[in-house]
Amino acid sequence: MEFEPVIGLEIHAQMATQSKIFCNCSTEFGKPPNANTCPVCLGLPGVLPVLNKQVLEFAVRLGLATNCTIRLDSQFARKNYFYPDLPKAYQISQFDRPICENGWLNVDVNGQTKKIGITRIHMEEDAGKLIHGDGDDDCSYVDLNRAGVPLLEIVSEPDIRTPEEAKAYMEKIHSIVCYLGVSDGDMEKGNLRCDANVSLRLAGQEEFGTRTETKNLNSFRFIQQAIVYEIARQKEELLDGHEIVQETRLWDSDKKITYSMRSKEEAHDYRYFPDPDLPVAHITQGWVDSIAETLPELPDAKRQRFINQYGLRLEDASVLVAEQSIADYYEDVAAHQVNPKTVYNWVIMEMGRVMNETRKRIGELGISTNHLAELIGLIEDNSISGKIAKAVFEEMLKNNQSPHVIVEAKGLKQISDEGALGQQIDEILESNPAQVEQYRAGKTKVIGFFVGQIMKATKGQAHPQIVNQLLKQKLDL
Ligand code: ADP
Ligand code: MG
Ligand code: ZN
Repeated sequence: MEFEPVIGLEIHAQMATQSKIFCNCSTEFGKPPNANTCPVCLGLPGVLPVLNKQVLEFAVRLGLATNCTIRLDSQFARKNYFYPDLPKAYQISQFDRPICENGWLNVDVNGQTKKIGITRIHMEEDAGKLIHGDGDDDCSYVDLNRAGVPLLEIVSEPDIRTPEEAKAYMEKIHSIVCYLGVSDGDMEKGNLRCDANVSLRLAGQEEFGTRTETKNLNSFRFIQQAIVYEIARQKEELLDGHEIVQETRLWDSDKKITYSMRSKEEAHDYRYFPDPDLPVAHITQGWVDSIAETLPELPDAKRQRFINQYGLRLEDASVLVAEQSIADYYEDVAAHQVNPKTVYNWVIMEMGRVMNETRKRIGELGISTNHLAELIGLIEDNSISGKIAKAVFEEMLKNNQSPHVIVEAKGLKQISDEGALGQQIDEILESNPAQVEQYRAGKTKVIGFFVGQIMKATKGQAHPQIVNQLLKQKLDL
């Protein structure tokens, strides 16, 4: 039996505002428990929430960037449930009149572009955090610093069909929220997290199967792995003749499995109703238009421009534009009239490797765009070889010096002087008569041996083309 997976993602992005959504408490991370609280976010009686305008603007920005229709009179609703980290016993969210609806974005997987629908994007407040004591300390504690921190929930249509598409969609959302400055997208801090809804249906069947929802996936890899696991698990259940139970599951990243958290039977009835404390959020089309004018060039548009302007391949341009700081860095280097493909190699291969190793961002590596352009210039005008350039690059990482200074100080300049090289070649030919014999007898491949010897003698600084040329001249005599 052939099954087709059906996947829809709900993504929560913590907004990059200074203050909370309905009070002026700070959103700063890492403060002592309950330092960032006030009567509003503690849920004390007799207080009124007031909407943070920045939240509304961020929601509109993201909606515009994802092709949504923006609602000019969106409404907040109470989502009722009891939990100790939610002192009001309801979360202020949006229900039937969300700020953004009917959007879409494109993802690219294996050279194919696919459009994924966005059902809605709404604004809501985050809950607090419980800290459970252990051992002698049998209390639980609550930290409400996070209560009232603004979130955007982005709900996709069930248009995704593979774990790779799900990962690509999440990466695209990550890229867009960061470009827009709407969220810092820091997944390790949980500032961008995803719930994955997965079901299977028989190939050719119209109707969707029963889904499970795996909560709080906070890395691109976990999203992909959890969905791969869930597809395999559901397939086995179905082949065994069992029905899929609609339930909420969690991902265990050590064991690489999903496990049941709660079933639909225990699922909440949230009894949504419009929040009487908050007026309808009226905005004007003029305001929406003025926000549209401030949108930056987004990843897809930038990628197309990079392909046209720098002659890059689609895959290479995609890697460069995923993060705006890398795209900007790339453009600053490429502006120095050096080969754009060489710049790509240095930025992604060399600097990318160092970023991975050190977990630093491109701006933190201590290599200015001027210095990288200078280094590439030295290779292009044959002052140094590519191999020496890598050694110079390592040096640049250590001391932030200009490559010219390093090349001068260490005497690394490429030897292109035919007189000096010719002399060394003569010496090497003289001390290896057997190989000279072989060459002249027709085994011309031994030229590689001579090139190697000369490189060794010059510590890699001999200009390879000139060496080759001189060798041929002398051997072909
Ligand atoms: P809820 O809020 O209860 O989780 P929604 O109808 O808002 O329910 O759906 C949430 C997510 O689940 C959406 O991203 C949607 O695309 C996805 N989804 C809905 N039905 C299915 C299904 N049968 N299989 C996979 N995903 C689904
Ligand atoms: Mg859900
Ligand atoms: Zn507060």
